[in-house]
Amino acid sequence: MEWFFLPWSLMAYLTVGFDPTGWHGTEQHWYEPPGPAEKWLIETVYETVAAETRCTRCGAPLERPRLRADAWPVRVATRCRSTARHRHRADVFRTPDGLHTDPLTRA
Ligand SMILES: [Zn+2]
Repeated sequence: MEWFFLPWSLMAYLTVGFDPTGWHGTEQHWYEPPGPAEKWLIETVYETVAAETRCTRCGAPLERPRLRADAWPVRVATRCRSTARHRHRADVFRTPDGLHTDPLTRA
């Protein structure tokens, strides 16, 4: 089952030392809403993860995730493609070390 952990290893690599302030030249604080670079990164990573993840309940592929990124934590939600449409979700937090991501788990 090593393939399951690969995306999260990649995520750790991407977020360690990730500094979105360098892209804008302005300092961002934890209480500020997610910026475009952070939304793009989160969306890209979870699209990749969802494409490689199966529903933990029925094994069906997952749909493209949707973000609720108006504030922290960013909420990531998706459903499986079976008729049951099981919900999966994850939260993303901003920490002093970068972005902390949770795996997609059944809600
Ligand atoms: Zn399912």
